[in-house]
Amino acid sequence: MEIPIQSLHKPSNWAGNIVFAARTVERPRTIAELQDIVRWSGKIRVLGSGHSFNTIADTDDTLLILSDLERRIEIDPAARTVNVDGGATYADLAPILHASGFALHNVASLPNITIAGAVATATHGSGDANKNLAAAVSGIKLVTANGEILNLSRGDADFDGAVVSLGALGVICELTLDIVPSFEIRQNVYLDLPVSAVIDNFDALMSRAYSVSLFTRWQGAATDQIWVKALTSAGEPPADVLGARAATKACHPIPDMDGTNCTAQFGVAGPWHERLFHFAIGNTASAGAELQSEFFVKRSDAPAAIAALHAAQEHFSKALFISEVRSVAADALWLSSAYEQDTIGFHFTWHPEWKPTLAAVKAVEAALTPFNPRPHWAKLFTLPAATIEAAFPRLPDFRELAKRHDPEGKFRNRFVTELFFSQPA
Ligand SMILES: Cc1cc2nc3c(=O)[nH]c(=O)nc-3n(C[C@H](O)[C@H](O)[C@H](O)COP(=O)(O)OP(=O)(O)OC[C@H]3O[C@@H](n4cnc5c(N)ncnc54)[C@H](O)[C@@H]3O)c2cc1C
Repeated sequence: MEIPIQSLHKPSNWAGNIVFAARTVERPRTIAELQDIVRWSGKIRVLGSGHSFNTIADTDDTLLILSDLERRIEIDPAARTVNVDGGATYADLAPILHASGFALHNVASLPNITIAGAVATATHGSGDANKNLAAAVSGIKLVTANGEILNLSRGDADFDGAVVSLGALGVICELTLDIVPSFEIRQNVYLDLPVSAVIDNFDALMSRAYSVSLFTRWQGAATDQIWVKALTSAGEPPADVLGARAATKACHPIPDMDGTNCTAQFGVAGPWHERLFHFAIGNTASAGAELQSEFFVKRSDAPAAIAALHAAQEHFSKALFISEVRSVAADALWLSSAYEQDTIGFHFTWHPEWKPTLAAVKAVEAALTPFNPRPHWAKLFTLPAATIEAAFPRLPDFRELAKRHDPEGKFRNRFVTELFFSQPA
């Protein structure tokens, strides 16, 4: 079969800091077309919704975009699962799930990302008992290098290695996700908790509700905002949190921005998908022109890590729009940032100026080095491959898995090769 060169137009990522180098962009409409494209391509990568900040999705050969695939969202109420196609977003899925009486256990800050792209990078939200979004996957269908479909289910030998794959095993064409009965959340924002109170009461703060996020600009002695997303069954929200006062106007995570783009606050009860995202479905997320990084440490190290970042804040805070601290429960997925440890994520939204951001990223990495930080695969980091290998104990097993399913490296781009395949065996 001859594959037509459809477009020489080069797409860029959401943030606009990466223009993809692809020679060809393919947009299959059916799984059979997708399989043919993979079968006959040289190097190939999938682009989801392009919300990553580094070259993880890039290729100089074929870029595959799945947004033209027919949307498939099939709920199995008895099994409490939903099957979704490889191009579907959380914004496609969440309202349909809710209308059928179901929910996802957790979501990220924004809805407009593909489920497959989020799963491939271990995207997460917050909540002491909430694992990252990939942990909801119970089945995965991959189009592998020869164009054939590989089905893996939770419990299969390769499954825990194949879910968070950075796109290096094949094209995710379908996912089965665990779902739960729909639930309601109240969201409240509290202001100006001192850093010392965060450090002294960290467990009490993060375990206070279903999902808690702490936002800070790492300036001075106080943090900015605590977003508390509580199950309505937990009762009325408190007037203050550890002395932090309740906000009286709608807040945006970036203190100077308009909070009306965000999900409803002030403790008004509402469905999970209208409260757990920070940014409402259909609205602009975050600042728009920005860069992001995120690093994860073992939960028990979080108070010391916060103290270390606080001590180093003058070296990175000027480059910041805002930083977010979230908790993620441990899972068993080999390349998950929460692999076998309850985890705290330190997220940084940077101004879109490359040089100050790079210096700031290095300052954060230096402050967190004693805690063996794991980077968010989809955000900016400079940690060397050997450091990353030491932080992910199953990375050598993932390398072998990738070699077995993709011996010629069809799905390996420069990003993945430099991270995982440049180390001496
Ligand atoms: C404003 C903003 C807010 C964010 N908030 C959060 C947050 O709250 N929590 C968090 O953890 N992250 C967050 N992120 C990061 C984001 O979740 C990740 O970048 C995620 O990967 C985005 O999904 P995507 O569809 O855009 O993937 P892309 O960036 O398009 O791709 C990411 C990776 O997934 C692979 N991939 C995509 N689709 C497939 C497929 N079908 N088969 C195989 N591989 C595939 C790509 O090849 C690439 O390697 C945020 C990003 C932005 C811009």
